[in-house]
Amino acid sequence: MAIAEIIAIGSELLLGETQDTNTVFILKELRNLGVNVYRTLMIGDNPPRIASAIREAFTRADIVITTGGLGPTVDDPTREATALAFDCPVEYREEEWDRIVKYFLNLGRKLPSNNNKRQAFFPTLATVIPNPVGTAPAYYIHQDDKLMISLPGVPSEMRFLLMNEVIPLIRNIYPSESTMLVKTLHTFGMGESVVDEMVSELEKSTNPTLGLSAKQGITDLRITAYGEDYHDAAQKLQQFEMAIRNILGNNIYGVDDETLDQVVNDLLEKNKIQLDIYEFGMKNQLSSLFRAEFLRDIRQDPWELFEDRSIEAIKRYFEQQRAAEFPTLVCIKDSSDKNFTEISLLFFLKNQLYQSSRKFNSRIFSDDYISLAALDLIRNSIQN
Ligand code: ATP
Ligand code: MG
Repeated sequence: MAIAEIIAIGSELLLGETQDTNTVFILKELRNLGVNVYRTLMIGDNPPRIASAIREAFTRADIVITTGGLGPTVDDPTREATALAFDCPVEYREEEWDRIVKYFLNLGRKLPSNNNKRQAFFPTLATVIPNPVGTAPAYYIHQDDKLMISLPGVPSEMRFLLMNEVIPLIRNIYPSESTMLVKTLHTFGMGESVVDEMVSELEKSTNPTLGLSAKQGITDLRITAYGEDYHDAAQKLQQFEMAIRNILGNNIYGVDDETLDQVVNDLLEKNKIQLDIYEFGMKNQLSSLFRAEFLRDIRQDPWELFEDRSIEAIKRYFEQQRAAEFPTLVCIKDSSDKNFTEISLLFFLKNQLYQSSRKFNSRIFSDDYISLAALDLIRNSIQN
């Protein structure tokens, strides 16, 4: 399987002014192609430094893809750097200049200045990839089993050329001997280290492989399976998924694009449940998680209903008055101690009380956690 590296070029990236979203986009597409990436690099607009980065990348990789630095200005260094790296001169290509002129005229713009002529210079080894959505033409060099591709930095142009030109080119040069399938399972609330301990045996597997990633209480398990063909890969993936599900069970709330709020709204629909919501110390954020048809009543800070401001008083109230009647979600955000934020969630469903509570360091606490925790409590209660 081919190995690739990505080099994002632009001093503005290193200054933190532009986020390198291009690399992320390319990574996902390469993954879908079954091309492995073990490193990527971000580098400033300096031709000699870029040239040595390209050379170094080729000591490890079959494919190097750069983005950025193809514009018409002096500080657009990629063409020159590529020529240095491949030890070949740059040359002017009249036909590319004609194409750029046509592009400007078709858009009814003024004729490009001579500055733009820079964009018609290419390393002599390069094959041009015409750019129908911008002025900077891209190019590739295919030499000695190495493939170098330079794409523009503007994300919309980069994406267009990657999808329409570069992916077919890579497919052509490196026909894949195997099929790869990826599936991601989502869990909430257990913490990455807990999940890691539970599936540690499976993490040693080499095919399929299992990778964990975590953010804001959600821990994802990404399964990657290779097979001789689709059927083979699918079978390997399914067996592995079963093994994970045997360990994590109901802690898995969804797969791939499914989100916790989708899953919970679907559960409410299936079980014909409407919610009463009581929020304390919050900004009416829970109601926005649910489709309007699943909301019966929403109350903000109705402290007057309770004997005192305690969880116990609230529990007593609902146990006596309401629990039997309607499914009710109660959420209390207590920030009275400035160092800690305590989140208490209660869910009353069919005479049962389900609850969770957790204390956070206020400096790093994010309200997003409350939404996810509330959704997960409802999901667990309904599926119980
Ligand atoms: P142009 O012909 O527009 O000059 P270019 O290939 O020279 O294209 P750059 O000048 O490097 O591209 O970048 C153009 C714009 O694209 C930047 O201002 C930036 O907003 C965006 N850009 C560049 N690199 C990246 C990247 N890695 N991720 C996301 N956006 C990027
Ligand atoms: Mg530029």
